[in-house]
Amino acid sequence: MSKESENRICQNCKKEFTIESEDFNFYEKIKVPAPTFCPECRTVRRLCWRNEISLFRRPCSFLGHNESMISAFHPDEKMVIYDSKAWWGDGWDSMSYARDYDFSKPFFEQWKEFRNNFPFQSLSNSNAVNSEYCNVADDSKNCYMISGSESCENIIYSNRAWYSKDSSDLYVANRLELCYDSVICSDCYRTFYSLNCKNCVDSYFLYDCVGCVNCFGCSNLRSKSYCMWNKQLSKQEYDKRISEFDLTKYETIQNFKKDFRKLYLKSLHRFANQIKVVNSTGDNIEGVKNSKICFDITDNAEDSKYIHWGVLNIKDTYDSGPGIGDMELIYEVFDTGLGNFRNLFTSVVYHSNNIEYCFNCYSSSDLFACIGLKSKKYCIFNKQYTKEKYEEIVKKIIEHMKTMPYIDKKGRVYKYGEFFPSELSPFAYNETVAQDYFPITKKEAETMGYKWREKAKVEYKISIDAKDLPDSLNNIDDFITKEVIRCLHDGKCNDRCTGAYKILEDELNLYRRLGVPLPRLCFGCRHDSRLKMRNPMKLWHRSCMCDKTNHFHGGAKCEVEFETSYAPNRPEIVYCEKCYQQEVY
Ligand SMILES: [Zn+2]
Ligand SMILES: [Zn+2]
Ligand SMILES: [Zn+2]
Ligand SMILES: [Zn+2]
Repeated sequence: MSKESENRICQNCKKEFTIESEDFNFYEKIKVPAPTFCPECRTVRRLCWRNEISLFRRPCSFLGHNESMISAFHPDEKMVIYDSKAWWGDGWDSMSYARDYDFSKPFFEQWKEFRNNFPFQSLSNSNAVNSEYCNVADDSKNCYMISGSESCENIIYSNRAWYSKDSSDLYVANRLELCYDSVICSDCYRTFYSLNCKNCVDSYFLYDCVGCVNCFGCSNLRSKSYCMWNKQLSKQEYDKRISEFDLTKYETIQNFKKDFRKLYLKSLHRFANQIKVVNSTGDNIEGVKNSKICFDITDNAEDSKYIHWGVLNIKDTYDSGPGIGDMELIYEVFDTGLGNFRNLFTSVVYHSNNIEYCFNCYSSSDLFACIGLKSKKYCIFNKQYTKEKYEEIVKKIIEHMKTMPYIDKKGRVYKYGEFFPSELSPFAYNETVAQDYFPITKKEAETMGYKWREKAKVEYKISIDAKDLPDSLNNIDDFITKEVIRCLHDGKCNDRCTGAYKILEDELNLYRRLGVPLPRLCFGCRHDSRLKMRNPMKLWHRSCMCDKTNHFHGGAKCEVEFETSYAPNRPEIVYCEKCYQQEVY
């Protein structure tokens, strides 16, 4: 007999949340107690452990290496940080950090001590070629400041770009080439300043377009060419009008951005971006079945809930992401997958089974509270046990975590079944993706007991103001790469402004190749402005806004209800699938 759904009060935000009957079944299956944080607070807690874009300089801690290196860990964090070469090399032994479990201290306190002495990799970017400023970016080639990405070449200043080439300023991009300033686009070539597009070529300012070639300022179009502001033109007319614009001018682009915003607000918005979705809720999902509250998921997810930024065969997985895929029976993990079965509370764990509270472990099974192990079995705090002894001690630890829980500064209690407390994270809230997806102010962070770190002021002297840069790219001299430019926001915005920025030589070459003006904002401000273009990872219950007389609801307002990431007070026109299909296709 399965348990009835139940309402509980979240330990973190003190709001009520519901644990459904199906949730109890899942917790029963993986043998963890029901959570004490609400779903959103659980996601935030996990995201506090994931830093994608904040990079610092600090010395390498490996014996004999003292040189300064780029790292995701702030130099104030008293941790042992190795450069990638040292970390992957055989100059140290992860098993030499083994320690006994101490039943006189809470588990998370011991885990923190263990973690602080254990070597961590400065950045997560394996197989990187000439891409030292990239984090969580495997197989990067000639990339700069990209993160949460994979297999990119000549990509700069981008986040969550996959298999893309020769582009800049992308956010959630899949297989793009020669693109600039685009958000949630895939399979596009020479597509600029666009949002939610697929298979588009040689186009500017597109929203929700698929298969469009040579289009400018359009929305809700399918397989069109030579359209401008949603009007069909002849090729000659289109070419003539395009040739009248100087798209290398900053001012021109800014004006078109304003027009694009107006066009966006007049466009139709499908309640959610869903392709091949069965009995599921969420946004930007493809091939998802019997799953709830999922975001940015592609290629098969089933019987899962509260997951985001994942790919490929995710089954029976709760509270996981970013960076997940190919896994089953998984709970509270990020950066984990590739054939994993029953992993709970893990980060960077691959090809592994039955792993709990572990970081950076590979091809292993039956590990508890381990860091940095490869091909190991039956270890606790990196100490080797027999199968029998391992099972006996893990049982005792789980009991101990219940009787002597960790209590954080705000009095929140962490027993077995909770993810790592955010106050033990080596990252400040505003350095992590928690700030990307659940942005808060410094004051709010303090109230909630989240760590916050002010950005160090850029040391070098500003030599030019962004507002004084020549308007057209054609009037920019190579000398620009020697200048330190003051960001238009000058650190006074609520974005993660660094105050100043530089233009790299390769970057200038790329802008010239793309024919786009120099940015007037620093990367922090540009990244935050792109994040604002996407909908939040939240759902609201609403109904269709359509009242078209030629639709199935004939004259009356459409009554179809749905879960949408458009909050009720937003200005967009939101349609159900059927009404949207009838208008757009
Ligand atoms: Zn909460
Ligand atoms: Zn800025
Ligand atoms: Zn409708
Ligand atoms: Zn309708």
